[in-house]
Amino acid sequence: MYNLAVFGNPIEHSLSPTIHAEFAQQTGVEVNYDKILAPIDGFNHKAQQFIDEGATGFNITVPFKLDAYNFSTKLTLNAKTAGAVNTIKVEGSELVGENTDGIGLVNDLVNNLGVNLKDKTILILGAGGATQGILLPLLKENPKRVMIANRTASKAQQLQQDFAQYGNTCGFGLEKIKNEPIDVIINATSASLDKKMPDIASGCANHAICYDLMYGEQTPFMNWAKDNNASMIADGIGMLVEQAASSFEFWTGVKPDTHTVIKNLRS
Ligand code: NDP
Repeated sequence: MYNLAVFGNPIEHSLSPTIHAEFAQQTGVEVNYDKILAPIDGFNHKAQQFIDEGATGFNITVPFKLDAYNFSTKLTLNAKTAGAVNTIKVEGSELVGENTDGIGLVNDLVNNLGVNLKDKTILILGAGGATQGILLPLLKENPKRVMIANRTASKAQQLQQDFAQYGNTCGFGLEKIKNEPIDVIINATSASLDKKMPDIASGCANHAICYDLMYGEQTPFMNWAKDNNASMIADGIGMLVEQAASSFEFWTGVKPDTHTVIKNLRS
């Protein structure tokens, strides 16, 4: 039996237990997956308690991904470059920290939506935790260039410097986005949470694949993409399921099928 859970605050809304229950049923792997609410300053204590009770591993969501990074005794390259951990596996005395968010996005784009990222120009809006997590997996797909545009330009420039060794990147302020077509635009800002649209040139959406990391509702970014002739528009539900599938495989060694789970969540 795999003893798993997701830690967060708040945590009530989390879809992870539903997703992992479907993976378990489908693969026949025996899994117990709980939701654990940790106090804002009490992640380590709660996580240690769960480990002492025989945990195999756990997911970590907002606001504990940095705590989990520091709590891990070993980090994968993904986790190191992301600067955050969303998955921990207990391996004897080691706590192996991984970050599956970026792998989840790439798997959704490439495998579910059929988007080939090789030699493509990608524009990421935002330079927060999500952007840092998706940069390495995106660069591993060998795009022509990944442009990072952020409201606060210095954060985009910092990420550009940090990731320059992994591929062709550049970083600038949102106002520098030119009114010309781009292949893939990823909204990794939290503007959708406030029902807002980042202030950017509309022409860049023309024939672009537009992907919002946010899920659960039609966002202003998705409306903007539709109004400006995007060739494909997607929300982040596929990424959510794919990052969960990647965590499930990290713990159990079994790769679940994601298609039916995504379909069920959408309906
Ligand atoms: P952070 O708080 O770390 O970063 C927020 C980013 O959004 C910053 O770059 C900020 O710019 C920018 N921003 C906020 N409001 C606006 C606005 N009105 N206009 C322009 N830019 C704005 O958040 P995260 O990176 O952790 O999360 C970003 C999004 O990704 C969230 O919506 C989250 O739900 C989603 N997400 C989805 C996942 C999935 O599985 N589908 C997984 C992980 C995240 P500035 O630096 O100038 O403040």
